[in-house]
Amino acid sequence: MLLKDKISIITGGARGIGRQIALTFAREGSHIVVCDLNESMLSETEVELKGLGAEVLALKVDVTNSLQTEDMLNKTLDKFKRVDILINNAGITKDALLVRMKESDWDAVLNVNLKGVFNCTKHVSAVMLKQRSGKVVNIASIIGIIGNAGQANYAASKAGIIGFTKSIAKELAPRGINVNAIAPGFIQTDMTASLNEEIKSQMLRLIPLGKFGSGQDVANLALFLVSEHSSYITGQVIKIDGGMAM
Ligand code: NDP
Repeated sequence: MLLKDKISIITGGARGIGRQIALTFAREGSHIVVCDLNESMLSETEVELKGLGAEVLALKVDVTNSLQTEDMLNKTLDKFKRVDILINNAGITKDALLVRMKESDWDAVLNVNLKGVFNCTKHVSAVMLKQRSGKVVNIASIIGIIGNAGQANYAASKAGIIGFTKSIAKELAPRGINVNAIAPGFIQTDMTASLNEEIKSQMLRLIPLGKFGSGQDVANLALFLVSEHSSYITGQVIKIDGGMAM
């Protein structure tokens, strides 16, 4: 087992990519703190994680709220006494062309996708600094690297995560903490399910491997990045996109 008795916090872990990451880490022996807004999915994921033998703390947390993310950390420490892994995965989209984009759509996406990463990392890294160990993985997107018409808010938030990742990697490396980002391409989850078939087939033509990715594909990369197999890797942005953005 790659993560035996490690303590992992996964934001937005109730469904989609975050859920696959939580299940994958639990199968590798990690105990899981799963945080999300979605209470019904949280309970389902909690039951599934327990079925894999993990100790689980399932918390309703809004990552945009600093008091709630601090409370998430305190509850984690009360139960588990330490934190080894933080996966900043919670994210949303509110797509529109710039001329039609509402200020509230800009603020909402930047708040969840970027400020949420700041809130969680700030609190959790304080503990990792004292422990002199830890792994942080931020879920960015290839859209933060190549851009996309209709996603200026999302692209800005994900590009922000990349700059944040590199800066924090430099700050935390002297204390044995690795910080990396994953930049997925098109992954089949609820977030992408609503796209119409025409857009999906256009995207498929841009993917050299000729298929969309799965949550499990991303979870496998996250597992590598939090395991000892990647202990000499920090400050990197690793694309997982079927070759879409080379
Ligand atoms: P989903 O929409 O399937 O899941 C995201 C989860 O995050 C949901 O459970 C959602 O809760 C939760 N969430 C949303 N806002 C908050 C918040 N403020 N605090 C806590 N939890 C919150 O998304 P995916 O699994 O597809 O995406 C996961 C991550 O991967 C995101 O950061 C996304 O940007 C990124 N990504 C996804 C790609 C894809 O193709 N799917 C491609 C590239 C990157 P609720 O159900 O209440 O909304």
